[in-house]
Amino acid sequence: MAFAITQTCCTDASCVSVCPVNCIHPTPDEPAFGTTDLLYIDPDTCIDCGACADACPVDAIFPAGELTGPLRAYEEINAEYYAGRDVLAEVSAAPNFHRWSPPSFARVLPSDFAPLDVAVVGTGPAGMYAVEDLLLHTNARVTLIDRLPVAGGLIRYGVAPDHPSTKKIGETFARFHDHPRLRLRLGVTAGPDLADRHDAVIYAVGATEPRRLGIPGEDLPGSWPAATVVGWYNGHPEVTPPDLSTERVVVVGAGNVALDIARILTADPDAPSSTSIAPDALARLRSSKVREVVLLARRGPETAAYTRPELLALAARGGLVVEEDARVAEAIDGAAPGEKAAWLRGVPRERVDWSSPPSAEGRRIVLRFHSAPVAFEGDTEVRAVRTSDGAEIPAGRVIRAAGFRGAPVPGLPFDDEAGIVPNTAGRVPGRPGVYVAGWIKRGPSGGIGANKACARETVGSLLEDAVAGRLPVRRKAKLFGRA
Ligand SMILES: Cc1cc2nc3c(=O)[nH]c(=O)nc-3n(C[C@H](O)[C@H](O)[C@H](O)COP(=O)(O)OP(=O)(O)OC[C@H]3O[C@@H](n4cnc5c(N)ncnc54)[C@H](O)[C@@H]3O)c2cc1C
Ligand code: SF4
Ligand code: SF4
Repeated sequence: MAFAITQTCCTDASCVSVCPVNCIHPTPDEPAFGTTDLLYIDPDTCIDCGACADACPVDAIFPAGELTGPLRAYEEINAEYYAGRDVLAEVSAAPNFHRWSPPSFARVLPSDFAPLDVAVVGTGPAGMYAVEDLLLHTNARVTLIDRLPVAGGLIRYGVAPDHPSTKKIGETFARFHDHPRLRLRLGVTAGPDLADRHDAVIYAVGATEPRRLGIPGEDLPGSWPAATVVGWYNGHPEVTPPDLSTERVVVVGAGNVALDIARILTADPDAPSSTSIAPDALARLRSSKVREVVLLARRGPETAAYTRPELLALAARGGLVVEEDARVAEAIDGAAPGEKAAWLRGVPRERVDWSSPPSAEGRRIVLRFHSAPVAFEGDTEVRAVRTSDGAEIPAGRVIRAAGFRGAPVPGLPFDDEAGIVPNTAGRVPGRPGVYVAGWIKRGPSGGIGANKACARETVGSLLEDAVAGRLPVRRKAKLFGRA
């Protein structure tokens, strides 16, 4: 019996390095790593040692034979990745495959190097992976700052409360909060003077500003950015609770955040489940009038933005329907096994009469493809959404989950088009000793684990600069014991 990787995998690759038989792929060295939704265990090679399950920070790995309920599908999903392929041969044939070369020790600091004083701004995954790297691999002293009174970034205030295993990674990060070389300062907004008091500063401030749709009615009352709703059900201290006294909610977008929101708004608040939902949110869900959530997906099912694990979880829970449409049916029915559109086989399809109110029978989610909003209608608040395919969907609330962007960081350059701080491998141009990591560095995509390699690259740049004497002169003097 082999092990299998399941839904909550955040692709941090902790399991890869502990596997004694190298049967977990794609690894961070492989081209597919950048786009994969999860990692997969080769059942024919796995020797069932369990080391990967012990290393996984989000409890995503189980013996395949012990999987139950919706997780049972993952035995086949893991095996499917290897079916009919020789993954190792493919990887070694890839042009960017790492071949043996002289060993490189670029990240090792000279033993007489004075400890660096580094400020890390942001306690989300990127900040914490940077902290972990600095504390475990250097003798640096770290000041860790977050403007919120509770640490964790989007793990605390973004990840859905019914994903307790994913939230558990926060405990892995929190073990560094009382490290003897770390000073944690919560409820503190980073000021521009940080760079004066530290040898280097890493900004890992995330990117949760809403991406504007640029359509009429976008700012009407009743139109909320996704961050408001997500923050509300996670108990964010700065969020005003949304009013759910409406029968139909339209969510613009069909990525994982949109699916999270639809799932929470249509969940049975009294169903026994493991959730860390904020008590106020639970109370409001109990009195919510929402019976239908419509997800507007701009593209078709063959290129939808959600990942397979999130869609599977939603489909397995029930209450999901796809709006009937000839183009959509053709894509789903004609898809080869494993293709994205095929994931929707088995999900009921229904013609929807938008002029009628949602059914009084239970709560449901309608997935509507090839449909983008062109205007939100209403005088004093949102009343309906007009779409690119000519429909008018009556809805009392709209949630904009069509992506995020970063906000400018005072004192740093900003790329307004990309919504990030411009950088080269984490170095901010024209600001020696200043670095970025995570979503503010590369844009708002990728799960928790994607920030690990990103933060590691940034810390690598910082250490390289320190060794090469490229930190500001005043700081360099201190490094060599002259300040
Ligand atoms: C709603 C949502 C759900 C998600 N769910 C999942 C999931 O289930 N699984 C998964 O793998 N990935 C998930 N992700 C993706 C994951 O959360 C991100 O990859 C990750 O959080 C990005 O990390 P970060 O450190 O760059 O930013 P963040 O996590 O946003 O952390 C940034 C931190 O910086 C702080 N900060 C900002 N400005 C300042 C300032 N001026 N001074 C001091 N502090 C400041 C913020 O308070 C915050 O704590 C989700 C993302 C979202 C938006
Ligand atoms: S159980 Fe052991 S052999 Fe199998 S994938 Fe995990 S670490 Fe590798
Ligand atoms: S979360 Fe990390 S350790 Fe767990 S299965 Fe995914 S890649 Fe492996």
